Amino acid sequence: VMTMSGINKSFGDFHVLKDCALDVPAGSTVVIAGPSGSGKSTLLRCVNLLEFVDRGSIIFEGQEVARERKRAFAIRRKMGMVFQSFELFPHLTVLENITLGPQHILGVDAKTARDEALALLERVKIPAKAEDYPESLSGGQQQRVAIARALAMKPRLMLYDEPTSALDPEMIKEVIDVMAELSEAGMTSIVVTHEMGFARRAADRIVFMEDGVIVEDAPTDVFFSSSANPRTRSFLEQLV
Ligand code: ATP
Ligand code: MG
Repeated sequence: VMTMSGINKSFGDFHVLKDCALDVPAGSTVVIAGPSGSGKSTLLRCVNLLEFVDRGSIIFEGQEVARERKRAFAIRRKMGMVFQSFELFPHLTVLENITLGPQHILGVDAKTARDEALALLERVKIPAKAEDYPESLSGGQQQRVAIARALAMKPRLMLYDEPTSALDPEMIKEVIDVMAELSEAGMTSIVVTHEMGFARRAADRIVFMEDGVIVEDAPTDVFFSSSANPRTRSFLEQLV
């Protein structure tokens, strides 16, 4: 679905991404981990064209998109984005949060949008919350609404930026379970997370970033069992 290569990005004099390459085939899940400030969020923002790279190629669905500034909105709507802070619309019900995009951007009729939203709420395991407002939901429930809202746009690629890091520990699992089930069902995904339980269960590959460089990109079993990279090793040791 997405292949990026030779990605370089600077903010002023600060070189944030240095020759990054990433291949995300259809149906795969790639986890990106690494220390704060290593460029993980910037990399995701370049993938969905919220930022434009200075140099490099991003092939999405067979097309070069790295410099498609005018078509950025149209391309971005084929990607679902889930953030650390759920960013739901507080004045809309759960159902309205999910149906807004399909109705107004995709032109889906109200009945179809509603039926699809209810099916998605089943999928993220909160079918009873359709008429509630976000503020009455737990953080874990709000994040699952955010996932359902992203899925309602029928994305070709899901991007998650630390989706569980604002959640209390007891809510992390319910969000991770939903994400892992989506990955297992074949949703192509890039997930920035430090939840190595999720990575073990759902990732095909794990990428480790440091100072804007992808220092390791390995199949999940290799990453955990025999990573020779000292940076990766010390990072993993800190997590346990
Ligand atoms: P974290 O784990 O804390 O979320 P990260 O790996 O996601 O970190 P980024 O948010 O991508 O890191 O930031 C990488 C570096 O780029 C940081 O030093 C950050 O301060 C800098 N940076 C990010 N966005 C901008 C911007 N718009 N302008 C200037 N510098 C930026
Ligand atoms: Mg970040």
